[in-house]
This record gives sequence, C-alpha cells and structure tokens, in this order.
Amino acid sequence: MSEHLSLDEVRALDKKYYMNTFGDRIPLCFISGDGIELTATDGRVYKDYFAGIAVTSLGYNHKRMTEELCEQVKDLIHTSSVYYVENQAKLAQMLVENSCADRAFFCSTGAEANEGAIKLAKKYQVEKGCKNKIEFVTLKNSFHGRTLATVAATGQPKYQAPYAPLIEKFVHVERNNIEELKSAVSENTAGIILELIQGESGVHPLSREFVNTAAELCRKYDIALIIDEVQTGIGRTGRLFAHELYEIKPDIFTMAKGLGGGVPIGAICANEKFASAFKPGDHGTTFGGNPLSTRAGLVVLDELLNNGVLENAEAVGTYLMDRLNELKTKKDIIKEVRGACLICGVEFSEPIGREVTARLRDNGILVGSVGDSTLRIVPPLIVTKDDIDILVNKLEEVL
Ligand SMILES: *Cc1c(COP(=O)(O)O)cnc(C)c1O
Repeated sequence: MSEHLSLDEVRALDKKYYMNTFGDRIPLCFISGDGIELTATDGRVYKDYFAGIAVTSLGYNHKRMTEELCEQVKDLIHTSSVYYVENQAKLAQMLVENSCADRAFFCSTGAEANEGAIKLAKKYQVEKGCKNKIEFVTLKNSFHGRTLATVAATGQPKYQAPYAPLIEKFVHVERNNIEELKSAVSENTAGIILELIQGESGVHPLSREFVNTAAELCRKYDIALIIDEVQTGIGRTGRLFAHELYEIKPDIFTMAKGLGGGVPIGAICANEKFASAFKPGDHGTTFGGNPLSTRAGLVVLDELLNNGVLENAEAVGTYLMDRLNELKTKKDIIKEVRGACLICGVEFSEPIGREVTARLRDNGILVGSVGDSTLRIVPPLIVTKDDIDILVNKLEEVL
C-alpha cells in the first residue's frame, strides 16, 4: 500500500492540475476493491451501494472478470474497427439474441451512444426524404449526457445554460404529462427520447400510459422511439433492459454504464428498419468496440444471463424495495421510495439527503445523493440480501 499517495497528496495534485469541473469531491480516494467493498487510502473499508454511478455491475475484482481482462490485455487491447474484431461481433450477437434489437454498434460512453442514436434517427428520415424532421422530444429532468447534442437533449437548465445557444432542437415535456407530449410531437419531429426511469434526477419512473402514448405517436408519425437505457439497462431493473418491464419494443435503445462493469463501453441497438439507415461511412469511432471493452461486455452479459446475476438482481432488488418500503412505514421522514429492483430512490420530506449520505459514509456505507432530499441506491448487481440488511439497518439507525 505504501506506493500509493495519501488522500491529502492526491487532493493537492487535483486542486493544482485538474480542471475544476468536480469542485470539492467527497474526501475519499480508493486504492482497491473486492466484491461490493472498497478500500480507501487510509485502509478503511466501505460497502458500496453506488457502484461508481451504476457502473460496476459485477462489483470489484470479480474473479472471472479480472482473469479474462488480464488475458485480453496480454493478447490484444486495440486494433480499430478497420479490421474485423472477434469480441465485437460476438457481443453484438449476444445483445441482439437477448433483446428486441436486430443490430448493435459499440462506442465508449453513454453520451456517445445517445449522440449516435440521435444521428441514426435523423438519418432514417433523411433516407426517406423527410429533411424537415429534425426535432426531438425529450423530458424535463431527463439526463442524456454532456456532449453538445446530449446536453441539449437533457431537460435540466443547469447543464445547458453555460452553453446556450445549443445545437439541435429539443422540445422538453413534463414527465407523465400525456397531453403535453401529444402537442409536442409535430411534422418536424424525428424522435422521442425517454429514460423509462429517470436516474440522475432522483429515480422517477414513467407511467405505462405515458410510455405507451409515446410508442403510439412514434408509430403514427413513423419516427424513432429511442429509449436511453444507459443507467436502467444491463440488469439494473431485474430485467436485462427496463423496456422489457414496460413491454415495449423501442426502435433504438442505448446503454453504457453497466455494460463493461467499469471498462468504458457504450452501445446503440436498433431494429433493422432504423439500423439500416446507417450506410458505410455514416458513423464511426476509433476506440468503440475494441477487443478489451467488448471482452468486458461479454463477461458481464454471460454472468447476467448464464450465471444467475440477473436473477440475483431481481430477487435482491425486490428485497431492497420491500425493506425500504417497510422502513418507510416506521419513519415518517421517508416521503417516497421509488424505482425498480436495483435502481432505487429514497426521498425524504426534509432536506436531509446530503447529511444522511455523509452519516452513512461515516458508518462505512456509500450511497448517492440527488438534490437536497433524495438518496440514489444503485449497488453492484452481485449485492446480497445480507448486504441489503446492513444498508437498511444502518439507514434506520442514522435516521
Ligand atoms: C450517465 C448517463 C448518461 C451519460 O453517460 P456517460 O457515459 O457519462 O456519457 C446518459 N444517459 C443516462 C440515462 C445516464 O444515466
């Protein structure tokens, strides 16, 4: 451990040399992890129910993942997609065979996946000769990424204001407001982009009626229904994708966070009708779908689908929601428990979110906080019922 810098030394370097986009961070720096536990520079061990923002789906130092990634690093990290890539082709097959999609494309982040989805939806209209269809409908309080187009898609002024005027035209409607949605879609719309459960703004699920209306509007206008599964995908809701819970088949859906278990990888999936709008040269990437990141994706998907991790996410996620709802009946300060399985928001009736998060941290427990009064709980998918008991009991104590 002696080869690591202390937290204070890391912080000093960060303050001097790193662009100050993250402000004062949580005063922790981790040097290793195992299962759902992280070890900090001072040797303290934390149980992690945040998973690096819903990313480390198999936890830390997962035996098979570590072995396969080490093997892959020795064999080959990168070749570019100028050549055929075995893992890339295999991962595309695995995603298609286990979803409603016909084709996949790999990139490196969620924002990049959403950018690609927006381009694909536009290209579909261009192919049809509908050059006027250039607008997108998204939701207020959505989050779709930090690139210029995805920040415009994100329905939160705080992310947009510094960059106005924004490129691309996005119309933002209120979550679950069906009338507003209907009047936002016009002859100029190229697609509707939805998170089925808005993660970043505090875990807010959409109503089935609202989602079904969006799907109907897309059929009626022959425009893309794009589901942003960057956070909800890859088992977090107890299903491989949240759109399975809603029993819809999106034209295009995107994913990233959990897909590589921590290795950066994103994906755009689409049905043939939309996917075929991309012709050679229309889209590309240097890093996307490289042998290393797609190997990580193969391990994650195989563990989920063939080694019980998806079943675990559903069983333990259901237990988490039950235990939190039970705690809510005992603690009036809990206003609402929202979400599905392992994407869970706990809203308090008072602005105590940050303090609760800090007290949990003092007790060796990591969760996320949103705004002043909401906790975001998105643990690794390998979390156990015993881990959930520890979390809920500590939360009760702290409250
Ligand atoms: C995190 C997130 C993104 C952005 O992903 P990055 O990998 O940070 O670019 C987009 N959409 C949703 C729903 C997200 O949660």
